[in-house]
Amino acid sequence: MNKYRGKTNSKADDILLALDETLAIFKEENYEKIVLSLKSSNPADLKEIYEKAYQKYPYPLHLGLTESGFGTLGTIKSALGVFPLLNEGIGDTLRISLADDRVEEIRSCKTLLRLAGRRNDIPNMIVCPTCGRTLIDLKPISREILAHLDHVFKDVTIAVMGCPVNGIGEAKDADFGIAGSGTKDVYLLFTKGQPLGLFEKEEALGKLYQMIEEF
Ligand code: SF4
Repeated sequence: MNKYRGKTNSKADDILLALDETLAIFKEENYEKIVLSLKSSNPADLKEIYEKAYQKYPYPLHLGLTESGFGTLGTIKSALGVFPLLNEGIGDTLRISLADDRVEEIRSCKTLLRLAGRRNDIPNMIVCPTCGRTLIDLKPISREILAHLDHVFKDVTIAVMGCPVNGIGEAKDADFGIAGSGTKDVYLLFTKGQPLGLFEKEEALGKLYQMIEEF
């Protein structure tokens, strides 16, 4: 790639020039099953590179931002680079490369695919931001439900809310929801803005998972 740097007016065109040379070698060797991966660590460059490659080559494209970092930093950078492309219908395979737990990579991929409308079998999870009305420790139960949803492939929206009164209203579009009740280890289940009853934690989660299963 280095020998092509600065050969054209854009970084994207330099990369495609280098790619042309590589593809010529593949052609000589009669390689036909080709997937192109043209990663960059800059979200803006990534968009230009992949848009041009999409127009120019007949091969499937593997998307991803490289060296994006970890946690929020890596996820935001990756999303900024990849989401516009997914939204344009560009990209055939995807990796969100994070210096983080691999589970977070997969969750980020699934979320982006759902938000870009490229997959309709990824659950949507709503979690309230918490405020002075919060009645439960929201993070552990949210994480528990999220881990369950990792294995669900359905277009279903689940809400986890800190309090019952505002929570049900704020999450009225959710298919199913769970909210703090004010009594320790007792949770309110609801569906589409309607309460279903109060249950102790294990029973509440069991019922929630069963409703998701039957959805
Ligand atoms: S659902 Fe309740 S706890 Fe959560 S942000 Fe809204 S009012 Fe606050």
